[in-house]
Amino acid sequence: MSESNPPPQNLQSVQEPDLQATHAGSGEFLIHFWGVRGSIPAPGAETVRYGGNTSCVEMRIGGKRLIFDGGTGLRVLGRELLKHMPVEAYMLFTHSHWDHIQGFPFFTPAFIPGNCFHIYGAIAPNGATMKQRLSDQMLHPNFPVPIQVMQSDLKFYDLTPGDVVNLDDITIETGSLNHPNTAMGYRITWQGRTAVYATDTEHFADHLDENLLHLARGADLLIYDACYTDQEYHDVKTPKVGWGHSTWQAGVEVAKAAGVKRIAMFHHDPTHDDDFLDQVGEELKAVFPAGLLAREGMILQL
Ligand SMILES: [Zn+2]
Ligand SMILES: [Zn+2]
Repeated sequence: MSESNPPPQNLQSVQEPDLQATHAGSGEFLIHFWGVRGSIPAPGAETVRYGGNTSCVEMRIGGKRLIFDGGTGLRVLGRELLKHMPVEAYMLFTHSHWDHIQGFPFFTPAFIPGNCFHIYGAIAPNGATMKQRLSDQMLHPNFPVPIQVMQSDLKFYDLTPGDVVNLDDITIETGSLNHPNTAMGYRITWQGRTAVYATDTEHFADHLDENLLHLARGADLLIYDACYTDQEYHDVKTPKVGWGHSTWQAGVEVAKAAGVKRIAMFHHDPTHDDDFLDQVGEELKAVFPAGLLAREGMILQL
C-alpha cells in the first residue's frame, strides 16, 4: 500500500509478506485484511482497489493464526491456507449477520480432515450459540451441504462479553458493542503489543462508548466500523442513525480519547467506490495522520 505519511514507529505496512516465514512463528504480529466491506459484497470495476469482499481479518501472532469473522473474505483466506496444511486456527466471530458468516460454508480448509478450527462467539440474545447459527445457514433451503460434511476438527466455545481467552501468551479480551442484537469486540495483546477488532458498532450521540474505550485503551491499532461519513449518518433524507454502524469521524474521537496509536477504518459501505474512499482517506489523514482505510490484501505489522 502506498501512504503519504510515514508509519509511526513499530507499526509498518508490509507490501509482500513472506507467508511461509510468518507461518513458522517468530516474534511477529501481522494483521492481514482479507475482506473489508460491510453489509454485502461489492465486487466490480469501481471497488477494485479497496476490495469487495466482506469482513475477514487474519492475525498471525507468534506462530498462531487468529481469524476474525467469516465474511466472503474468508473464502479467499481459505485458498491461501491450503498451502499451509495441516492448519490450526482460532476463529472469533463478532456476530452472525450475513457479512460476517457467509464465507464460512465456502471455507475449504474446514472440509479437510487433519485441520482444526477453534471457533469462538457470543450467544445471541435469542439463546442461539455460534455453532447453531453457523450450522443453520448451511441448512436447506439456504445451502446444499450441512456443516456435518466439514471433516476438519471444529471445536466451539461460547463467549460472554467480558470473558478473557488466553492462547498461551496471547490474551484476548472481549466486550459488547452497540449493534442490533449486539456484537462482540476483541482486544488482542501479545508481548506488549495490542490490536483491537471492533466492528459493527454504532457511536452514541452524547457520550463515548465505555465498552469500546476500555477495549481500545492505548492500543497500537484499532480496527473500527467506519461504514458511513458523518454527513451520510446525519443526512436529512436518509439518516443512518440506529442502523448499528459508525463513522470515521466518530472513530477518530474514540482513537484520541482512548490513546490509540493508529486506526484502520473498516467495514466500508458497499456504495463507497474507490474514489470516494480515497477522498475519505485524505480527509482522515488531515485530522488523524496515523489513520488509514483498510484495503483487501493489506498487511500491517505491529
Ligand atoms: Zn457487518
Ligand atoms: Zn452486523
